Amino acid sequence: MGIEQTVDLKGLLPDELEDLAVSMGMASYRGRQIAAWIYGKGTTDIDEMTNLSKEVRNQLKEQSTILNLQPVKEVWTEDGKTVKYLFELPDRRRVETVLMWDGKRRTLCISSQVGCPLDCHFCATGKMGLVRNLTAGEMLDQLIWVRRFLLERDDDVTNVVMMGMGEPLLNYDPVVRAIRLMNLSYGPQIGIRRITLSTAGHVPGILRLSEEGLKIGLAISLNASNDVQRDQIMPINKKWPIAALLDAARIYQQNLGRRITFEYVLLHGFNDSREDANRLVELVKGIPCKINVIPWNPIDGEPFRRPPRPVIEQFVETIADACITATVRYSKGDDIAAGCGQLFQAPSLSTSQSGPTFC
Ligand code: SF4
Repeated sequence: MGIEQTVDLKGLLPDELEDLAVSMGMASYRGRQIAAWIYGKGTTDIDEMTNLSKEVRNQLKEQSTILNLQPVKEVWTEDGKTVKYLFELPDRRRVETVLMWDGKRRTLCISSQVGCPLDCHFCATGKMGLVRNLTAGEMLDQLIWVRRFLLERDDDVTNVVMMGMGEPLLNYDPVVRAIRLMNLSYGPQIGIRRITLSTAGHVPGILRLSEEGLKIGLAISLNASNDVQRDQIMPINKKWPIAALLDAARIYQQNLGRRITFEYVLLHGFNDSREDANRLVELVKGIPCKINVIPWNPIDGEPFRRPPRPVIEQFVETIADACITATVRYSKGDDIAAGCGQLFQAPSLSTSQSGPTFC
């Protein structure tokens, strides 16, 4: 790595920080010290790195920066159990991050892209198109800021879901890098089994991830019980239809020994019949999995409806009768448009219209 340009230290792996330290004429262990300051203590000011000499700090300041994202807006649900943050990026683009309290869990839903190119029809983020990928540092900093907020209250993030704006597997390398940093023993220390990546069904990405050696959870946004149906709401299905997606899910499950989560957004009159539930059971038969049923969260301009409660219950009972674990996720935060499929940022940078995501 050259040192002529200013480099953002946040997002570099410890090994890379060691290389950087060496390239700047320091001992390599200095790189680990810098990593501990940035990822462990959340330092954003190089002058706070008091175990580095003043000379070294000055040199670092000349050649590097530390990203420091700040939320420009936060919206809480009425029950105080969900908050949606709007973070402004260095180029003034904005992404949304959602924190949810549920019993002892503090789950943070992180965005991986500004917008999303996949255009799932039930999802507000898909309406934005892809604006750009986030860097590893930008993903990690959503976690670092929220942890700082919680730690001041003797609380902490327990779980991370890469389920915010964007398709994580279309931003593969930075996403994997961010996950490794979240898991750092002297960093945020989010247990690898407490991190889940959600995908709309990017098959090559799932296969690559199955070889990555990261035992993170995988959630697949299925949402249909056959290809005809799925083609209508998820354009990605035309490229990687259900059979190919389920083959990839089997490989992931076998390689990592982790149960797959299938997400199923329930759209009334479209994919919520007893026949749909039975077909879904047949599809996932033999894959250790659970099914997360998500009654649709309304977004403007779409013809779908949320099913009435008896329909939701019938759907879930049909799955449970086949001895497959099924849960209903009544979205937390839909009163602040922070529910699944609702994350949205208007293209205009000056507008903070919102509504979050999901894959
Ligand atoms: S559901 Fe996920 S993959 Fe689909 S458009 Fe929304 S953010 Fe993109």
